[in-house]
Amino acid sequence: MTGPSTTLRLRREGHTYLTAGPANLSQLQHVPVRGQFAYDFAVMSQSALVLFSAGQDSATCLAWAFGQYKMVETIGFVYGQRHAVELDQRPVVLEKLRLTGLAAGLGGDTVIDLSGYGAIAESALTSSRAIEMAANGLPTSFVPGRNLVFLSVAAAYAYRRGIDVLVGGMCETDFSGYPDCRRTTLDAMQSVLALGLDRQIEIVTPLMHRSKAQTWALAHEMGGDALVDLIVEHTHTCYEGDRWHRHPWGYGCGSCPACELRARGWAEWRGEP
Ligand code: ZN
Repeated sequence: MTGPSTTLRLRREGHTYLTAGPANLSQLQHVPVRGQFAYDFAVMSQSALVLFSAGQDSATCLAWAFGQYKMVETIGFVYGQRHAVELDQRPVVLEKLRLTGLAAGLGGDTVIDLSGYGAIAESALTSSRAIEMAANGLPTSFVPGRNLVFLSVAAAYAYRRGIDVLVGGMCETDFSGYPDCRRTTLDAMQSVLALGLDRQIEIVTPLMHRSKAQTWALAHEMGGDALVDLIVEHTHTCYEGDRWHRHPWGYGCGSCPACELRARGWAEWRGEP
């Protein structure tokens, strides 16, 4: 498999990465990463921008990205969140990750102020409304268009930085069925970005088809108990901004939908009733 016309396809996690041009097996680095990924050629040559909110999912995605890309930058958003806790936890999680030794490729972190957007896209996450099911079948925690806005802004930032991969923790198995977390939405978004920027920017979603239990399992597979402990102790998921009730799965009120999901996934992963 040599020669200038060789196209190398690497399939991992349901995504196919294409490397056009000369490819030679000797260029492939065999990477016995936890038995999952056989070769690291196409993606290790790239940089990625991880949408990082300091929650369980995005922290797991960030750790995942360290094993996939040479350089990893992070981006976060202020969008009028009801609680600033997740913003406070961002530098803490990043610093703790640096100490694990997993984060050799961790580059800069950027926080973009989109509070004007939050003001127009009011939801239970940006105002004092209760989190419940609305008449449209979506929870009131749904912030209309949030991921579309985040991805557009992240793509603009990535474009400027010469990065062509965005990594996000969007997940279809989430309880909520947020329409902007679905892979079909993200595939369409990828096409829109390619047209609008005249450059291919891939949206990679390693958690898309994982349950929360499988997300805990992935963290353990990548970084063992140390990474799981870090995620438990320092990431923040609770919609109520609760950092004073400590549970085996981390801090939170224990009763909002985000806490329930995190707790249920933890129990399932641990094999607890
Ligand atoms: Zn909660």
